[in-house]
Amino acid sequence: MQVKKSNDEDVHKCLVCGYEMVKMQACHIKCVNCGAEMDCSDKGFIW
Ligand SMILES: [Zn+2]
Repeated sequence: MQVKKSNDEDVHKCLVCGYEMVKMQACHIKCVNCGAEMDCSDKGFIW
């Protein structure tokens, strides 16, 4: 897997498996390992 690092992005770890999650869109991140997805509506959950 490729890991991209940008200065202004935080890295989120998947709550399910701990894998590094990929930012798909501004408010949408996905775990490429287990397929879990999070978005802004889950604010209290991961953000
Ligand atoms: Zn995961």
